[in-house]
Amino acid sequence: MSKAKYVIAMDQGTTSSRAILFDKKGSIKSVAQKEFRQIYPQSGWVEHDPMEIWSTQMGVTMEAMQKIDATPEEIAAIGITNQRETTIVWDASTGTPVYNAIVWQCRRTADAIERLKEAGLSDYVKEHTGLIPDAYFSASKIAWILDNVPGVRERAERGELRFGTVDSWLIWNLTEGRVHATDYTNASRTMLFDIEKLCWDQHLLDYFKIPESLLPAVLPSGQIYGTTAKFGGKIAIAGAAGDQQAALFGQCGFEAGDVKSTYGTGGFLLMNTGNTRVRSDSGLLTTLAASADDKPQYALEGSVFIAGAAIQWLRDEMRMIRTAAKTQEYCEAVKDTCGMYLVPAFAGLGAPYWEPYARGTIVGLSRGVTKDHFIRAAVESLAYQVNDLLCAMRADAGLELGALQVDGGASANDFLMQFQADLSDLSILRPRCIETTALGAAYLAGLSVGFWKDLSEIRKNRKPGRTFTPSLDAATRKKLLSGWKKAVRCAMFYAKEEETADCEEL
Ligand code: ADP
Repeated sequence: MSKAKYVIAMDQGTTSSRAILFDKKGSIKSVAQKEFRQIYPQSGWVEHDPMEIWSTQMGVTMEAMQKIDATPEEIAAIGITNQRETTIVWDASTGTPVYNAIVWQCRRTADAIERLKEAGLSDYVKEHTGLIPDAYFSASKIAWILDNVPGVRERAERGELRFGTVDSWLIWNLTEGRVHATDYTNASRTMLFDIEKLCWDQHLLDYFKIPESLLPAVLPSGQIYGTTAKFGGKIAIAGAAGDQQAALFGQCGFEAGDVKSTYGTGGFLLMNTGNTRVRSDSGLLTTLAASADDKPQYALEGSVFIAGAAIQWLRDEMRMIRTAAKTQEYCEAVKDTCGMYLVPAFAGLGAPYWEPYARGTIVGLSRGVTKDHFIRAAVESLAYQVNDLLCAMRADAGLELGALQVDGGASANDFLMQFQADLSDLSILRPRCIETTALGAAYLAGLSVGFWKDLSEIRKNRKPGRTFTPSLDAATRKKLLSGWKKAVRCAMFYAKEEETADCEEL
């Protein structure tokens, strides 16, 4: 009789490493978390120390186990979820990284991506990897390390080095160098992986001059990757997935048409499109979703650059609120925004607009606008941006959406969730446990080792928190949306105008 009582989720994020122990009901039994250093060597560059990623992740896992005296025999499996795209290259015999981890946010390879576009490879990248070429993804980061760290290219060509996203790096260390592997979801964010043939793309490897010996084996997300003896007894590493895909899985987004929206610093909308790949005509990415079996599942993904960050801006730069949670009171103090809109395009606009030069814009100010209206417009902007992505997904997938599952820090705001339901004319389901990323990793691992029997057992664990039902009349919705569209056009028009405006004509 198995003594297993828990599954460990290692949740390796951009600013902290966390470990959570879940029981069979999917309830949190223990948590530990530790932040680690963000390294900014130059403007626009972001790095992490891979050894710190490893040591903090080990530390929090041990701490979470110790808090409830969990023994290795009581752990059914470990599941890993991680910040995506972040790139690490290390020596295969010593395990020593040859350079810091280059973080997904790092813009150092933006020029390399411009050159790739000039070389006419954009359509190729989109067709094979499902991605729109960007410095965000791992490919140009690996090439940068090979080209810029002395001696590294020669060592790579001699087969002495290994590359991995953070999941691979953790698996390698947990198995003491025995396993060099990643999962479909993480591979699909490297911009080197063919998402239909499910193999590394030779043409892109040649373009970036990346030797194949550097690359990990790519396995389904729910799979036994190996075992670790790092915690005083053997534990199976039985699942891995990138953070957004893990969140979709943790929200029980197993079927085509299931959608989840994460309201964090940025916003991420993912729709499961089942076993068929859907190509986007609206600037969304196609990516691999996590699945519990060998059959790959696909997802459409859209991201909002500034979501919760707009609330941070209200707090830290505008100094209008003391805490993010306070926004709800201000929003509820007024019946609308008095006709004003705030488009938080502080870092350009992503899907479906893709206008890097757009900037934050406020329109519709009148003498009656108060601080309450201003704050409400900022909060509403999260819902408008998510709605734009939902419309793009509806168009691309040709699927009618059932309901929207939500998570992330700002999903705690009841006003925002009701406004999203009204604006998108969709029911919004907020689970009681918004730790869906870690839960997704735990589910993948637990399913692989039989801790949970099947998906239906997992669905039964789902504890509904609150449902927000649309209650806005169609005419008002239409009016609000048309105002938003005009405001977005202003944000984009301003960018274009800046290049051409002749001040003397004004
Ligand atoms: P991340 O994982 O990206 O760090 P979180 O999921 O922890 O983000 O969410 C934090 C973000 O959510 C912050 O940007 C914060 O401003 C915003 N936020 C948190 N609580 C609320 C709230 N009640 N209303 C609106 N925004 C909120």
